[in-house]
Amino acid sequence: MAIERRAANSDIPLSQIKIADDFWNRYRDLVGSVIIPYQWDVLNDALEGVETSHCIENFRIAAGRAEGSYYGMVFQDTDLAKWLEAVGFYLSASGRDEKLEALADEAIRLIGEAQQEDGYLDTYFTILEPEHRWQNLQEGHELYTAGHMIEAAVAYYEATGKEEFLKIVMRLADLLCRTFGTGEGQNHGYPGHPEVEAALVKLYRATGERRYLDLAKYFIDIRGVGENYFLKEQKGPKFKRIFPELAAFSPEYFQSHLPVREQKTAEGHAVRAGYLYSAMCDVAEEYEDPELLESCRTIWDNMVHRRMYVTGSIGSSGYLERFTTDYDLPSASNYSESCASIALAMFGKRMARVTGEAAYMDEVERALYNTVLAGIGMDGKHFFYVNPLEVWPAACMPETSMGHVKPKRQTWFGVACCPPNIARTLASVGQYMYFLTEKRLSINLYMSAKTELELAGIPAELEVETQMPWQGQVRICLRGKDGASLQAAADAGAEIALRLPWYAQNPVISVNGQKVDDQQIQAARSGKGYVVLKAEDESMVIDLCFDMPPMLIRANPQVRAAAGRVALMKGPLVYCLEQTDNGENLAQLVIDPEAEVKERFDPDLLGGTVVLEAAGWRCGNGISGTPGKGNALYYCRQDLPEKPERVTLTAVPYCFWGNRRPGEEMTVWIREAERM
Ligand SMILES: [Zn+2]
Repeated sequence: MAIERRAANSDIPLSQIKIADDFWNRYRDLVGSVIIPYQWDVLNDALEGVETSHCIENFRIAAGRAEGSYYGMVFQDTDLAKWLEAVGFYLSASGRDEKLEALADEAIRLIGEAQQEDGYLDTYFTILEPEHRWQNLQEGHELYTAGHMIEAAVAYYEATGKEEFLKIVMRLADLLCRTFGTGEGQNHGYPGHPEVEAALVKLYRATGERRYLDLAKYFIDIRGVGENYFLKEQKGPKFKRIFPELAAFSPEYFQSHLPVREQKTAEGHAVRAGYLYSAMCDVAEEYEDPELLESCRTIWDNMVHRRMYVTGSIGSSGYLERFTTDYDLPSASNYSESCASIALAMFGKRMARVTGEAAYMDEVERALYNTVLAGIGMDGKHFFYVNPLEVWPAACMPETSMGHVKPKRQTWFGVACCPPNIARTLASVGQYMYFLTEKRLSINLYMSAKTELELAGIPAELEVETQMPWQGQVRICLRGKDGASLQAAADAGAEIALRLPWYAQNPVISVNGQKVDDQQIQAARSGKGYVVLKAEDESMVIDLCFDMPPMLIRANPQVRAAAGRVALMKGPLVYCLEQTDNGENLAQLVIDPEAEVKERFDPDLLGGTVVLEAAGWRCGNGISGTPGKGNALYYCRQDLPEKPERVTLTAVPYCFWGNRRPGEEMTVWIREAERM
């Protein structure tokens, strides 16, 4: 077994980051107390009234422990993988847990038994179609499943040091290395659903085995080159279709329409896209490939400046869960899968690290604070897969074009990618907080936490205290560990870099009581977005303060769906109107853009939240559905029986929506009173 090279999941190992943050802990604490036990029961079909998973049972059948047949989606194995990855992150972040490890170890033993002699691991093909391995890369998800297994094993190994799972996935990865490549007799294909590429990079970083990195590069380089692999594959003698509807999908859906270096726009299925782009960035970093990095930058710019929602979600088409065209961002019928926002965060974090540019973290923060958190209920047991910006529950009818939109969070799904994906993201949210190079600590996200790290070779302790996202005040204390001096780190040129969020107004920074020059802050604004401070000898107390008033955000006029509307934001949080606070039919409400938006903290509401209140009107009162003058489907203005009514609009964070009266109306974009 090779020795660990560096933490594969974080610049600072998660075990050294102890998050104690009022906002984040309400979700993170659910991971251990609710989500992991709940999802374990789901995987074992131990809960009544929850959609059957059969996931563990598939492994038992493949391992020869049980009789029966496979049930579930072709990628059902990934639910267990993502659960194990969440367990790994949780153990790293919150400390070892014997009982939980016993469950995980037993699951890992079962996975080992289900693994085939040559390293193959996929219960669908093992049970149902062993003769069809690797012949339908477009739909089979074997490489996607392998990727999730690998990521889980790396996380579990980093948390526990136990090697069994890592050895299982190394046997699997070695099989992939033998099977795929440009060599004679090798399969020249690549994944229909990217995922394994970034996983192989993680495996390389955890083990130091270069062949895994090279295979990741192969998958990136070969994609979309020459005659389309997926179209060619379908003509193979042993090809067997799994999803008949996929036959008609264009190569764009699978990001295989062009070699990746020639792709300029975010295309196709949004989760596939985000995972692919993340891996492209990893490979660009490892191989120091500026051309590939430039492709990542071009695609990112298209994605976040043309095709992303204000809530940090992507994939605006309900049909095929995919990107469409620039500025096509419908509010009610969109897909905006929770997993796609996670993929966006993964991609953005990598871009920020490679380029040193804070703007990428602005969008990561947007995705995490809004769509990713909206994906999970405050009870930890209910989830959104689809994340609309406007919901009229009555119109979310099955067997219509709105059938994919659920006005209430669901307990589980037949395709259950999102719940465990959210769980693993919450458990590992510490990976987004910092970047650490030898001499520079960059602070990306402001959460209260205590962190141990080594800066310029000196063991140090970092303590962050903040009331974010409610107030723009952050206190950062850096000192040598156990009272040691930071002098040696300061002498070696160590630096602390603070991200200036895009919404931070009038930022003021002081170090040990000395105000930092405004020019330095301006330089950060016009540069890479980080204010870089030199480490000081004994210890450092850094105070970062900025104004974070409520803002009215408008969309580019090309976004037809948001024309004449505003979204309320405070800091990274997007707000929404809910029926509970504002009554029925939110489309009748109009905000007064000239009036001040008031904010107040309500400790009893939704676990404690800042509420925004704005003056406005309710229009169209008196019009009913009863036919007749002024009471029809359509009417003239002079027939309006009542004047608009003055009202106060009350908005709560989008991430908290649907937690009070599940199944209520909600809207992010609010009609704006016209000032012509
Ligand atoms: Zn998902």
